[in-house]
Amino acid sequence: MQHNIALVGFGGMAGWHYDLIESIENLTVAGIWDIKEERRSYAQAKGIHVYNGLEELLADEKVDLVLVATPNDVHKSIAIQAMEAGKNVVSEKPVTLCSEDLKEMIAASERTGRFLTVHQNRRWDEDFLTVKEILKEGKLGEIFRLESRVHGSRGIPGDWRQEKEHGGGMVLDWGVHLLDQALLFYPEEKLNTVYATMTHVTNQLVDDGFTADLGFSNGVHIIIEVGTSNFVSLPRWYVLGANGTAVIEDWDRNGRIVRASGVDEGDVVPVITAAGLTKTMAPRREDSIHTEALPKVESDIRDFYRNVMAVLEGREEPKIRLEQVARVMRLMEAVFESAEKKQVIEFEK
Ligand code: NAD
Repeated sequence: MQHNIALVGFGGMAGWHYDLIESIENLTVAGIWDIKEERRSYAQAKGIHVYNGLEELLADEKVDLVLVATPNDVHKSIAIQAMEAGKNVVSEKPVTLCSEDLKEMIAASERTGRFLTVHQNRRWDEDFLTVKEILKEGKLGEIFRLESRVHGSRGIPGDWRQEKEHGGGMVLDWGVHLLDQALLFYPEEKLNTVYATMTHVTNQLVDDGFTADLGFSNGVHIIIEVGTSNFVSLPRWYVLGANGTAVIEDWDRNGRIVRASGVDEGDVVPVITAAGLTKTMAPRREDSIHTEALPKVESDIRDFYRNVMAVLEGREEPKIRLEQVARVMRLMEAVFESAEKKQVIEFEK
């Protein structure tokens, strides 16, 4: 079945969606609307239909799907207006700025019977899927800690991302991805505790980075860190099990798994440092460990839209479910609260 999507907001991310949609069967961009003249002219120059306003876009009967790719603070009003006009909606992340707003959006979806979902595209990132595969394989033994980091060194990009009223800051920007991923590793477990800190190195108005320690009911802790003043990046992922460790250095998935081979090291030769000696922190003897490549995984981000179309045709369940989106939103609120109060937040009992 053919679907026609209209894009509201035609900035950097909508351009990415446009190119992606061009490569997907049965999905066509009907046109765009952006409040900025320069973005409308840019679209026109690319041969894309430009509507005369949001109302005209929403009145176009051939459009059954609307992508909201504006700054974060206007996702809610545009999404609700679109659903009330009979359109199904894909909102860019974060879906909106707080749980109360999200409730209004979900209520609009229920009232109108229109489908609402969120572009949590980083569920298709292959580094994330590699970690899921490592956990599934179980070769590291009992996992006790996962660390997930993204580091840049240029502060917060853009303009609206630096302003609170537009939903700026890194918790709402990268945080929403990393926290969403973190909640997918152990979906059956409760997230008991959240402790977070924030940085304001380049911006006082919004967070330009944060750390969060998520304590799950199975004892696993997931550490999340987003940094924008990090001139040396730490690995994207670090996964610790009782029997081995995995490291994924970057988005290209350079990395390795190192695990105990079962060969007894015997007496450990201590490392002599400038001011003492240690056996505990001495490197392993080579034959007591195996080093191996990371498992191979592949993904296709076009499956996001293929799933949206399949949901509209009643063939599949949504891959990005609103109760998951709502849990991530509550978690982002807990991150803000913890950092502000300098306290551990009890999240789920
Ligand atoms: P951007 O500033 O490049 O583009 C936003 C566009 O929206 C601008 O052209 C602006 O003129 C337009 N706009 C603002 N208010 C509008 C309104 N009321 N009606 C119509 N147009 C309006 O920003 P961006 O980087 O494209 O980000 C847009 C959204 O996409 C944000 O929510 C952001 O978080 C999200 N995003 C997601 C990813 C991802 O990987 N999922 C990556 C980047 C951005």
